[in-house]
Amino acid sequence: SERSNVRVAVRVRPMNQREKAKQSSCVISMNENKTILQSNAAVSPGKVQKGPTEFIFDHCFWSTDDSDPDNYAGQEEVFRTLGEGIIENTYQGYNVCIFAYGQTGSGKTYSMMGTDDEPGLIPRFCSALLNKESKGTVTVELSYMEIYNEKVRDLLKLKKSKTELSVREHNILGPYVEGLSQHAVSTWEDIKLLLVAGNKCRTTAATKMNEESSRSHAIFTLTITQIFHNQESGTSKELNSKFNLVDLAGSERASKSGAQGKRLVESGNINKSLTFLGRVISSLAEEKNRRQSYVSYRESVLTWLLKNSLGGNSKTVMLATISPADDNYGETHSTLVYAERARKIVNEATVNEDTKF
Ligand code: ADP
Repeated sequence: SERSNVRVAVRVRPMNQREKAKQSSCVISMNENKTILQSNAAVSPGKVQKGPTEFIFDHCFWSTDDSDPDNYAGQEEVFRTLGEGIIENTYQGYNVCIFAYGQTGSGKTYSMMGTDDEPGLIPRFCSALLNKESKGTVTVELSYMEIYNEKVRDLLKLKKSKTELSVREHNILGPYVEGLSQHAVSTWEDIKLLLVAGNKCRTTAATKMNEESSRSHAIFTLTITQIFHNQESGTSKELNSKFNLVDLAGSERASKSGAQGKRLVESGNINKSLTFLGRVISSLAEEKNRRQSYVSYRESVLTWLLKNSLGGNSKTVMLATISPADDNYGETHSTLVYAERARKIVNEATVNEDTKF
């Protein structure tokens, strides 16, 4: 097995219309792998003043001024940087997990899904995965689910399946969702059709319930199976890996509830999962807790399902997205603190290999 830290990247988006109209000032600067948050003096006069705070990450993406292409990290650059080695890892049989974290409106969906003209990480990773050559026979299956209010919903559910699914744990393969539909795919077009259908499922629900989409987590998983036959010995070897792309609910829910130690009840259970994600991240960041037995993954659906991606059998990348504007100072600060903590998590990834006779 191979040990590696969670790789953490931060991306700062352009000012939006509202921020421009308010003539917000930019409180973020980046210098190689450092992200610097300006002093809060201008933002909260009268409060205890902090000087500029520096955070170190694996990658910092400056995507604030797209009129200056030389100093703008576009979708292709983000993909190339984060994707380096990841496609190979998947084909070597490792699990991979990429998750996007940040307040609502900070650019999670833009970075993950992107637009038709500027496709994001999901379409780019999918195409790269499907185009990769392998010596084995490859099958790729897709599942797409949503976690909302501690309930798992299949976004691609077959007509007769249950609406609410349960999480179970296999003693070797780890946690999984029972009855989650799997869809064989072979091209990006196949995947896109399923994603569009799945996203519609999310949006329909969102109009019924206020702000639901920013409170739900979407987990998109590709399961890649490679079978290698050995003609001489008559044996075959199977390599299995999961590629998870997670669009987390807006992080403002976490910072306003339990993540800072207040009682969970206060969040009205709105987003228990995100609260516990914060706790799991914090407790994994402390050396003495690194042995997984001390971390209570099962407290929430999200952390349970991501168990193997957080300090488990996985190569994990976290993309934290932030706004550059002074009026988001507080949320930006807490996102950066979270992200810096996540960097301390050590994953132990092993190849999922099975020899059959
Ligand atoms: P979230 O998913 O975090 O709620 P979005 O991805 O919807 O946020 O982003 C909010 C808005 O900002 C969208 O209109 C999006 O197109 C724009 N945006 C976000 N990140 C970028 C970026 N890096 N470059 C250009 N526009 C961006």
